[in-house]
Amino acid sequence: MSKDKPNAPKLETLAIHAGRAVDGSSGAVAPSPVLSTTFARAGDGSYPQGHIYTRSGNPTRAALEQCLAALEQGAAATAFPSGSAASMAVFQALAPGDHVLAPDDMYHGTRTQLRDLLQRWGLLHSIVDMSDLDAVRAALRPQTRLIWVETPSNPLLKLSDIAALAQLAHGAGARCVVDNTFATPVLQQPLSLGADLVMHSTTKYLGGHSDLLGGALIAREEDEFFARVRDFQTKAGAVPAPFDCWLLQRSIATLPYRVRAQAANAQRVAEFLADQARVAVVHYPGLPGHPAHALAARQMRGGGAMLSFQVRGGRDEALAVSAAVKLFTRATSLGGVESLIEHRASVEGPYSTTPQDLLRVSVGLEHADDLIGDLRQALG
Ligand SMILES: *Cc1c(COP(=O)(O)O)cnc(C)c1O
Repeated sequence: MSKDKPNAPKLETLAIHAGRAVDGSSGAVAPSPVLSTTFARAGDGSYPQGHIYTRSGNPTRAALEQCLAALEQGAAATAFPSGSAASMAVFQALAPGDHVLAPDDMYHGTRTQLRDLLQRWGLLHSIVDMSDLDAVRAALRPQTRLIWVETPSNPLLKLSDIAALAQLAHGAGARCVVDNTFATPVLQQPLSLGADLVMHSTTKYLGGHSDLLGGALIAREEDEFFARVRDFQTKAGAVPAPFDCWLLQRSIATLPYRVRAQAANAQRVAEFLADQARVAVVHYPGLPGHPAHALAARQMRGGGAMLSFQVRGGRDEALAVSAAVKLFTRATSLGGVESLIEHRASVEGPYSTTPQDLLRVSVGLEHADDLIGDLRQALG
């Protein structure tokens, strides 16, 4: 996995061992969460173990952060109580008057932060088609300090060229941040392509079981910007609970195997859907007909486990298909072991640009035959 270090441990090994050791005091093989909010000083007033108070740092969170940094080949990582808290910390490390370029297809919550929360504080942004490098170049301003990339994007599965965008950002004196939630480090490692920061909603694949909320930022370098992010985070109190950190690291151990199996299922589901008369178009980077299939082959290892498709006849027909599934659950979110289907425009609200005939699918770990069987009867 590590292209530059052929002898470095591979992702599967890191997912299990990075930030994890047998407990020296008890011999416990499985780690326990350190729930304490406060840590004892020695007689001389020092903190022999380095921890003071859990908002500023906690051993269970530190172990998770070590693991996250290793998975993304970063210099450092910091964990958040949600993906939204992670993206907010990046934006709040910028200054009023700074300008952010954001993609025209992206997680609606991140766009809402830029539009509804940060504009009032003087952070400027514009929306651009990130799959069009000329459009990105034209949208750069002297005040542009950040290019926010989401690839594959939510919910249209558009791809953006991370290496080219990082280069454009650096040429303009800006940073390139990649929301890597959909691809995960198993399928895509943005830092090795030149990105400065990776963001995750760990609520999704890293958590993997739809039972915890979390976020993360991983930095290529521990630079002054990352120090500002951390400073904002700990002072604002946007830190995850130790128990959630423990739960997350427990899930990460199986991440490579879950993601690969889910992506293999998604490839089969996408191929099935592409053949159906009632389906107008399938958005999945693993299909040869995807507009960025060649970029996917270069930048990703497989098409991922998320896809969306548009149903002929419009909104009502799409809702009828989602009403007819039995094995898929109609629910928002993604990345869990169970397959979910969602009429995306309904949850995105009045600003949504998502086609009304679109259903988004998070493909889980059930057998692909069963998933395809369910979609066949729902489309039938
Ligand atoms: C869910 C999600 C987020 C937001 O994360 P939360 O953990 O829900 O706050 C950001 N980006 C993407 C791509 C997501 O899917």
